Amino acid sequence: MDYHSTSFVKSQIMPSGRTHDRITLWTLPAIVGLTTLSTRNSTVTLLVAGGYLFSGLMFGPDLDIYSVQFKRWGWLRGLWIPYQRSMRHRSRLSHGFLLGTILRLCYLLGILGLGIGLVILLGQAFFNLDWHWGERAIALGIWLRNHRIGLIALFIGLELGAMSHAIADWTGSCYKRWQRNRAKAKGRRGKAKSFK
Ligand SMILES: [Zn+2]
Repeated sequence: MDYHSTSFVKSQIMPSGRTHDRITLWTLPAIVGLTTLSTRNSTVTLLVAGGYLFSGLMFGPDLDIYSVQFKRWGWLRGLWIPYQRSMRHRSRLSHGFLLGTILRLCYLLGILGLGIGLVILLGQAFFNLDWHWGERAIALGIWLRNHRIGLIALFIGLELGAMSHAIADWTGSCYKRWQRNRAKAKGRRGKAKSFK
């Protein structure tokens, strides 16, 4: 895939990475204010705001293309190449409501799980690592249950960040389409006048 030409086309029809960054940073105080007002809980507010920032700056829908979000993963950016190759830019799988965030989470957690599992298997094979999968799975289940409110808050933050991005993309596209249609209509009117 020619990432540069793709990102060039993208830059012509929708907000740039910098515009998305600005939207994320400008809307952050509103997210913090609304979450504080509705929950009165500083931990929940911190998790929603943290998820929103993370999603807006480096875990958002544009991970499906060579983008600012993708570049911010630094030497870990290679993790996202299979993700990019497996979906069309701006498809519902990356930019869709809930689906985009859920798929990205499954993808990242899947890769992390595979990596950690591999390290543990190697540890067991070569260093006699004392590890019991059943006990760990139970401990993980308990941890997830005990932290469910925080995890839901984090997910809401991630989804809000992704949606602010998708809404900006959609608004940008609508505006460009409106401009193009207006220019075409003007051109037609100009031609009609010159024939009179
Ligand atoms: Zn986008």
